[in-house]
Amino acid sequence: MLKIDMHVHTWYSDSSASVDEVIEAAKRRGLDGVAITDHNVIDGALEAERKSDGLIIIPGEEISTLHGELLALGIRKAVPKGLGAPETIKLVRRQGGVVVVPHPTVPFVGRLSEDAIKKLRVDGIEVFSAITPLPGYFYKKNMELAERLGVTAVAGSDSHFPQTVGDAYTIVYVNERSLECILDALRYGRTKVGCKPSSWIFKLRMLRGFFASLPMSLLRRPPPPL
Ligand SMILES: [Zn+2]
Repeated sequence: MLKIDMHVHTWYSDSSASVDEVIEAAKRRGLDGVAITDHNVIDGALEAERKSDGLIIIPGEEISTLHGELLALGIRKAVPKGLGAPETIKLVRRQGGVVVVPHPTVPFVGRLSEDAIKKLRVDGIEVFSAITPLPGYFYKKNMELAERLGVTAVAGSDSHFPQTVGDAYTIVYVNERSLECILDALRYGRTKVGCKPSSWIFKLRMLRGFFASLPMSLLRRPPPPL
């Protein structure tokens, strides 16, 4: 059984945490590993793999697709942003990666509808995102959604600060401490969710950025059909 925070950013995208700070925080919080999922870049994940020092690193990316964001776990080559979700998923799977929909039911942030998620046949959905306001409310909705869709329940902190690494984590059941076994556990639903909401101090800092980008997201054209 391994405790892994499946959604962590570094300063390669929009976090204030360096790779070293993420690794140090993960160890301090008693995690077995972290997935580094920067927005549309992979460099932080690759640096973390080089520096991991015993911590499991799942290299990944949070990809902005035409249809909304997708978390790719277990990839080492960046998948470009701005493609349609089906094409993005193809590119992730070609590298042996796993696809998870982050914060699916959160308004404005989770843009993929239940129907779309079903069509895309993703591996999992993020049922608990520690940085989201009212994560308990969305957790309930997301768990029901995961059950309806028959996909794996995943949790992550969506950490953008060293202090929030490990606020949520996924417990994965594996026979072996290898990336392949962990990805298989995600594919076949051998997970449990461990979580506590992040402190409001950090949520408010995230919300500031969210409201700043809101006018743009309201103006955004609706995505093309899948
Ligand atoms: Zn994120």
